[in-house]
Amino acid sequence: MPDVKSAARGLYINGGWHPSRSGRLIEVVDPSTGAVLAEVPDATVEDAHACVEAASAAASVWRATAPRKRSEILHRCFELMIERQDMLATLISMENGKALRDARSEVAYAAEFFRWNAEEAVRITGEFGIAPSGTNRIIVDYQPMGVCLLITPWNFPAAMATRKIAPALAAGCTVILKPASETPLTAFALAALYEEAGVPPGVVNVVTTSAPGPLTAEILADPRVRKLSFTGSTGVGRLLLAEAAKHVISCSMELGGNAPFVVFDDADLDAALDGAMIAKMRNAGEACTAANRFYVQSGIYDAFAHGLASRMSALKVGSGVEPETECGPMITRKAVEKIDRLVSESKARGARVLCGGEALSGNGFFYPPTVMTGVPDDAEMAHEEIFGPVAPLYRFETEDEAIDRANNTEYGLAAYVYTRDLARGLRVSSGIEAGMIALNRGLVSDPAAPFGGVKQSGLGREGGQHHGIAEFMEAKYIATSF
Ligand code: NAD
Repeated sequence: MPDVKSAARGLYINGGWHPSRSGRLIEVVDPSTGAVLAEVPDATVEDAHACVEAASAAASVWRATAPRKRSEILHRCFELMIERQDMLATLISMENGKALRDARSEVAYAAEFFRWNAEEAVRITGEFGIAPSGTNRIIVDYQPMGVCLLITPWNFPAAMATRKIAPALAAGCTVILKPASETPLTAFALAALYEEAGVPPGVVNVVTTSAPGPLTAEILADPRVRKLSFTGSTGVGRLLLAEAAKHVISCSMELGGNAPFVVFDDADLDAALDGAMIAKMRNAGEACTAANRFYVQSGIYDAFAHGLASRMSALKVGSGVEPETECGPMITRKAVEKIDRLVSESKARGARVLCGGEALSGNGFFYPPTVMTGVPDDAEMAHEEIFGPVAPLYRFETEDEAIDRANNTEYGLAAYVYTRDLARGLRVSSGIEAGMIALNRGLVSDPAAPFGGVKQSGLGREGGQHHGIAEFMEAKYIATSF
């Protein structure tokens, strides 16, 4: 079992554990029961200043540390995470509620960012060329940006943090991580693990707060902070972009999604249903890449709807840490109320519920797997992230119509397409406005591929061969002649 007390022992600043200067605490709640699991410090702006101080003091030594050495430390982080996969997965399940099997997959995915970036750390190269005029040479050197503020959401407490920390450290940056206050225990447990792996004091600092706006504004106002990497909702992303603009800070933004899942008549029905279950139900629908709108062509619509309802209604709903659970609780009661409101609005406008459709009573925050047909295109759930186990189906007739309706959203993160016709699959993939397309697959995320969105789903990419590290480096051009 994870040591919850140890994970909640303090703010992690300059390699030490500290209480908040306010003495206040934030309760961490177990979404499966509603009970308080632990309390973590509620940081003040002075605590935030201490983090910047520590990250700044560590920056010059870390950027000068040999890439091979940085790579070995990152690789050790990967190994320790895999060795402790069960413990970390249980901790994630306890504070986030996700089913243990999803939490285990998250730990493996999160650890992979360390392995991948350990491999990338020693392959950062520059450029050298002759200016077209022939008068001078052009040298391009890639340098670490410096101190970075990383802000992460609660839905992947490990992976959203390592997807930023690993490339930042590989590039030679130092960081301050502000995890979501719903799920801080994983972030603290991982900080202890990084220390054990050899990450020097001050290179990673972790701070929790109940007032993220003022605290992060204070950090961004410090001229030593040169990078903001945020994962979370589009609304908060907009606020942070405005805050960062005041100081012209480089921003990477991984924001909300509204993924279409398009199934053509010629799709392999079983494969599409398997993919739909992954795209919708990984993390019980609490994923930015979650399929939010199912566009299904007329000829296969009824078979797909019934197949999906039969698979969804067979899922075992329960406490995240129970090994047989397939759909855990939502993160908060408020999240359940939002899902309930979206479903009720669609029902009132004529949508039909094939399974689920009403919040479950009890102490935990449970919503059952739900399938709905006949949802109108202007329903609220067609334009907002449902962020729960609800699959709304929309019927379509033609390929152009599917693309147009898929694109009828301000978001553009992920999309899913099922067809046996490869030319059509590539045509539709090209036409859909999204940063990532899963063609005949239910999963896109891969540390080796560039993850990110277009439109209001974000700016920049994480992971991938050079994309993730490039977000933490500046190009310095040197003109010289010889
Ligand atoms: P959120 O935007 O409410 O919070 C994200 C983080 O920002 C948390 O740490 C929170 O404490 C902090 N925050 C909140 N208000 C802030 C403020 N005013 N100033 C500074 N920080 C602030 O999002 P959430 O509810 O934690 O997570 C769910 C959202 O994250 C969804 O929209 C989901 O799509 C998105 N998400 C996106 C990706 C991606 O890679 N694109 C991945 C996971 C989640």
